[in-house]
Amino acid sequence: MVNSSLIKELKKIVGDDYVMHHPDELLVFQYDGSTDKALPDVVVFPKSSEDISSIVKIANRYDQYIIPRGAGTGLSGGAVPMYGGIELVLTRMNSILSIDVENRLALVEPGVVNLDLSKYVASMGLFYAPDPSSQISCTIGGNIAENSGGPHCLKYGVTTNHVLACEIVTENGDIIWLGDKFRNVPGYDLLGGFVGSEGMMGIATKIIVNLLPIPQSVKTHLASFATIDQASFAVSSVISSGLIPSAIEMMDKLTIEAVENVVKCGYPDTAGAVLLIELDGSNEEVSEQSKQIMDICNSLECQDISVAASIEERNALWRGRKGALGALGSLAPNYFLVDGVVPRTKLPETLKTISKISEKIDLPIANVFHAGDGNLHPCILFDEQEPGMAEKVLGAGGEILQACVDVGGTLTGEHGVGFEKKEFMYKIFSNSDLDQMLRLKSSFAPNGRLNPGKVFPGGPKCFDMGNYNTFRS
Ligand SMILES: Cc1cc2nc3c(=O)[nH]c(=O)nc-3n(C[C@H](O)[C@H](O)[C@H](O)COP(=O)(O)OP(=O)(O)OC[C@H]3O[C@@H](n4cnc5c(N)ncnc54)[C@H](O)[C@@H]3O)c2cc1C
Repeated sequence: MVNSSLIKELKKIVGDDYVMHHPDELLVFQYDGSTDKALPDVVVFPKSSEDISSIVKIANRYDQYIIPRGAGTGLSGGAVPMYGGIELVLTRMNSILSIDVENRLALVEPGVVNLDLSKYVASMGLFYAPDPSSQISCTIGGNIAENSGGPHCLKYGVTTNHVLACEIVTENGDIIWLGDKFRNVPGYDLLGGFVGSEGMMGIATKIIVNLLPIPQSVKTHLASFATIDQASFAVSSVISSGLIPSAIEMMDKLTIEAVENVVKCGYPDTAGAVLLIELDGSNEEVSEQSKQIMDICNSLECQDISVAASIEERNALWRGRKGALGALGSLAPNYFLVDGVVPRTKLPETLKTISKISEKIDLPIANVFHAGDGNLHPCILFDEQEPGMAEKVLGAGGEILQACVDVGGTLTGEHGVGFEKKEFMYKIFSNSDLDQMLRLKSSFAPNGRLNPGKVFPGGPKCFDMGNYNTFRS
C-alpha cells in the first residue's frame, strides 16, 4: 500500500490530476515494448524541471525509487519499474522551446515526440536526423537515454552525435547542464557519458539538439533478391564500394509477408529478401550514386531493382519498413525482438545460425533490420499463452546474442541493455570493465535510486556494491 502522505506531497507539486495510484490506473504503466512487466507504486506526470527536482527530493525522503519514462516504446525493459517506486512520465513536457535557424539548433523538452521535431522544422528547411522506426511515438528523452539509432543512422550517426547539451535533474534533485550548444566544453565529456545511461544517471529535462539541412535530393531503391544470402552480399558490396547510403534496410520473406498482409506497400512476394537503399545529397551526387547502386545490385543478379518515382511511392516503401514490427502481429500473437550487432561481413553466417535456431526451437523467426550497420533484429514469433513458451523464446534469444558475440559482434545496437540483457553483459565485459562503468554511474547517482536494476548484472542494490567477482558465476 503506497504511503498516503507521499501521494499528498506529490499531488501538491503537480496537481491531483497528474498523480495516479489506483491499481487499475497503474496497469498500463507496467509495460514497455519488451516482454518484461512490473507495476509501479505511483505514477506522476511532471510539467517542469522544478517539478522533477521537488519529486526527486521527496523520493529521497520517502526512500522511493524513481523510474523515468517517455512513451514506453523501449524494447529492453528500460522503463519497467522492476522494483516498484515512482514512475515519472515525461510526456507532459513536450514543448519545442526554441529553434535557432542560423545555428541549426533546437531546444526541446524530453517528452517531444521524435518525428514532431522534424515536422516542426521542415518549413525552415531542416530536420532532426536520428529516426528510430518508432519515431511517430518515441520521445527525445527516451532516445537520449537509449542512445537510439534508426534507419538513417548509417550515414548520420546515432543520437549521441546530435545532442549538444542537456539539462538534467540529478539523484539529489539538483538541476545542472551537461555540454554546451557550441560543442566546445572544457573538461570531461560528461554529456557523452550521460547519453545512453538508460535513466540511471539523471533525468533529462531540456535538450539542445543539432538540426541538419534537408538534402536537395533523395532516391529510395527497392531491390529484391532470391535469397537472404544474396541480399547480405549486396550490403557488403555497396559499403565496400565506398558508397555511404543514408540507409540500407533489409526485410526477409516472412517480414515481407507480414508487411503485405497489413501495410500493402507493394513489396514483391517472390523475393527471399528485399533491401531498401536510400541515397541523399545534391542532385548530381545522388544520380551518380544511384547508377552505382543499380550496377552493383544487377551484377549480383538481384530479381529486380526500382526507384521510388514520387514522394508518395517513397513514403509507401518506408511505411512498410516502419510498420514491419507491428505487422508481425498478423503472423503470431507475440514476437520477441533480439537486438544484436555483427560485422557486416558476418551477416550471411549469422543469419544462417539464426535460421538453424529457428528450426531447433520450431518457431518462425522474421528478420527486419538496419543491414548497413550490421544491426540485426531477429523477431521470434510465438504465442505467450502456450505453456513454457516464454522460457523457450528467451533461451533462443540468448543463443542468438551468443552467436553475434561469437562472430565479433555485440549485445545491442540501439535498444539498450535495460533489464532484459543485463546478465549478458558478462559476455562482453570483464569484471574490471563493469566496475569502471559502475563507478561512472555512481558518480552521478551513488544511491541507486534512479531506475534500479537495469544495465548492471545483479539486483536493485547489489550492483551498487560493485566488485563483479562476487556476482559472476
Ligand atoms: C516498433 C518499434 C520500432 C523501434 N525501432 C527502433 C529503432 O529503429 N531504433 C531504436 O534505437 N529504437 C527503436 N525502438 C525502441 C524504442 O522506440 C527506443 O528505445 C526509444 O528511444 C524509446 O523511447 P521512449 O520515449 O519510448 O522511452 P521509454 O521506453 O519510455 O524509456 C526508455 C528508457 O529511457 C529512460 N528515459 C525515458 N525518458 C527519460 C528522460 N527524460 N531522462 C532520462 N531517462 C529517460 C527510461 O527510464 C528507459 O530506461 C523501436 C521500438 C518499437 C516499439
